[in-house]
Amino acid sequence: MPDLIHNLEAVRQRIAAAAQAAGRDARSVTLLAVSKTFPADDVRAAHAAGQRAFGENYVQESLAKIESLADLRASLEWHFIGPLQSNKTRPVAEQFDWVHSVDRLKIAQRLSEQRPDHLPPLNVCLQVNVSGETSKSGVSIPEAVEVAQQIAALPKLNLRGLMSIPEPAGDLDAQRAPHRQLRELFERLCNDGLELDTLSMGMSSDLEAAVLEGATIVRVGTAIFGARDYAR
Ligand SMILES: *Cc1c(COP(=O)(O)O)cnc(C)c1O
Repeated sequence: MPDLIHNLEAVRQRIAAAAQAAGRDARSVTLLAVSKTFPADDVRAAHAAGQRAFGENYVQESLAKIESLADLRASLEWHFIGPLQSNKTRPVAEQFDWVHSVDRLKIAQRLSEQRPDHLPPLNVCLQVNVSGETSKSGVSIPEAVEVAQQIAALPKLNLRGLMSIPEPAGDLDAQRAPHRQLRELFERLCNDGLELDTLSMGMSSDLEAAVLEGATIVRVGTAIFGARDYAR
């Protein structure tokens, strides 16, 4: 899969250039390779090229993939980033290292209750619906303050930060605006006493804008694996 390896390197260079422009250490930005709809073999190839963190959106698909990559489990980090229904939380609590898409307290409570005792707390981000967001998922900015405090108190979760999926925008300034709003909310929550270290924002088309606004995890699918074919 030479394309994949080439793409991965190109994305790493985009992150490095954006970090440099922002005066940040490129190592402060983690690349999450979003492998949804792509086969386990692609994950294996990316892993062989040094990629460790992978993002998945669909419970059934991801469980099959995690299973077929069980031999690599100790050196893979699985991040659930898709919409999560409350009747599907258990396998996610059992199999994943992170959930970025916690968008209400009930989901967080279930994940905490269902996280197995022998595993470390599940890392989670609160998904925030910044203005004009495409996806309807996520708490509003005013709601986020209270919900974040409630999630932070759950025993088997480690609230790491915030996540958002802004509306696609054309130019850099328009792309930066919603990322800036998320960062400002993040700073407010930190000032309120929450110990957060993660801003999960930026995808294939806007990762530079996100890194300039302080993203610590960028979630990149298309630019690494190519266009998705949902019929597959
Ligand atoms: C699919 C997806 C991505 C990756 O999007 P690309 O545009 O392919 O990079 C990132 N985040 C979430 C939540 C996604 O569902």
